[in-house]
Amino acid sequence: MEQQLQEQWNGFRQLVSRIGSYNEAVGLMYWDLRTGAPRKGAEQRAETIGLLSTEAFKLGTSEEMGTYLDLFTQEANLAELDEVDRRLVETVKKDYDLNRKVPAEEFQAYTILTSKSETQWEDAKESGDFESFEPYLSEIVATLRKFIGYWGAKDTPYDTLLDMYEPDLTVERLDEVFDRLKKRLVPLAEAIAASDIKPKMPFLDATYPKEGQKAFSHFILKEMGYDFDAGRLDETVHPFATGLNPGDVRITTHYHENDVLSAAFSSLHEGGHALYEQNIDPKLTGTPLAQGTSMGIHESQSRFWENMVGRSLPFWQKYFSELQKQFPDQLRGVTPEQFHFAANRVENSLIRIEADELTYNLHIIIRYEIEKMLFNEDLDVKKLPEVWNAKYESYLGITPPNNSQGVLQDVHWSGGSFGYFASYSLGNMYAAQIMHTLRKELTNYDELIEQGNLLPIKEWLTEKVYRFGKSKKPAEIIFDVTGEELNPDYLADYLEQKYASLYNLKL
Ligand code: ZN
Repeated sequence: MEQQLQEQWNGFRQLVSRIGSYNEAVGLMYWDLRTGAPRKGAEQRAETIGLLSTEAFKLGTSEEMGTYLDLFTQEANLAELDEVDRRLVETVKKDYDLNRKVPAEEFQAYTILTSKSETQWEDAKESGDFESFEPYLSEIVATLRKFIGYWGAKDTPYDTLLDMYEPDLTVERLDEVFDRLKKRLVPLAEAIAASDIKPKMPFLDATYPKEGQKAFSHFILKEMGYDFDAGRLDETVHPFATGLNPGDVRITTHYHENDVLSAAFSSLHEGGHALYEQNIDPKLTGTPLAQGTSMGIHESQSRFWENMVGRSLPFWQKYFSELQKQFPDQLRGVTPEQFHFAANRVENSLIRIEADELTYNLHIIIRYEIEKMLFNEDLDVKKLPEVWNAKYESYLGITPPNNSQGVLQDVHWSGGSFGYFASYSLGNMYAAQIMHTLRKELTNYDELIEQGNLLPIKEWLTEKVYRFGKSKKPAEIIFDVTGEELNPDYLADYLEQKYASLYNLKL
């Protein structure tokens, strides 16, 4: 690179680092607010967060940034950059365009709208009163339809929203993928519902003191290779992971004394998110490439560790005795096989976040189909409860008795997060597809788990997925790792196999 261009590049990198530092500070303050910051300081802290976020936003949309982006998106200059740097320019430009295209006052009005709407949703969820929430949701949908106009509709308006969470994913592709998945999972859920295998599991009703659960969570995170020198585990009502930089990836979990499964699987789940971010190539630190490449790939890693590893029989054959050490009375006489069944029992339920590994995907497909109707077919928001209930009846054979357990159950729409839900199911599909390749390459995969030797699995994933961060796109990761595009059959195969053996099904 010529000296003059090199100087410009250094200037661009410094600007990107400055934005990254603001974002890291904001991330740390959010973590602090959610994990036990003193209440009395919260108001002032919110001011500070607002101020720092605005500074980062201003830098990201500044004239200076615009000049750099113009320069480095010129073909001759792009050719001077290596692949990672080109991806960096592309990533920064995507944010720049998204943020510049919406008029500032409209964006601000939208921010206020969604924050009011979230509060309104909390009350509506409590009372089940959809009518009181509907005007806010209608306004959010109308605003987003308008924003899509500014951003530019891709193949369809809803494609624009999907692309925000899963770059380059389209409605056309997802329709096909979800249709194939639905055709196999709906009959599977029906076969399980008809099965008369319903073992009694009285140990699930015992009380499991927090201390023992905490010890087990710490133990299992160390086993999977979570680096406590590059993170920490705290307790919050809603578990989450937050990556400040690859050397500081924090997670939280929750402990319910009447539910021994919840903390263990939440810790594995958040631990999976954290392994991803802890193992991103340190060279990417300080850039927006030092994060998961998409919501779907991120979720594939949390679900791989939670479900494919954590809900497998070899896992409990190895680790059940550790849990039993913490709870000798509660788990006396229980076998690893019984505990494994408890962690995998299937029930058609109304609530997404309580759903099992199988029906979870049906909850997501329902939300995807409804969102698509809202943005591509102008579905009237007033009709949502009706459409929602009909889909639950058709896919899960149950109708919500009220809107609290139906259309009002999730927070996402109240904050304008349309296009997000698909990520959860994409995560399951990606995870199963990646596992298929992993099993071919680490032929002793089951033995490794049964021996409690999880590190080779973590290392394989680091080599194939983690280290790239956002420098590879989701479709590239999947293709490079597995040699094919996203293929829902791997998830369906995995689920059929698992449940056929648990529920003695002939498929
Ligand atoms: Zn997650």
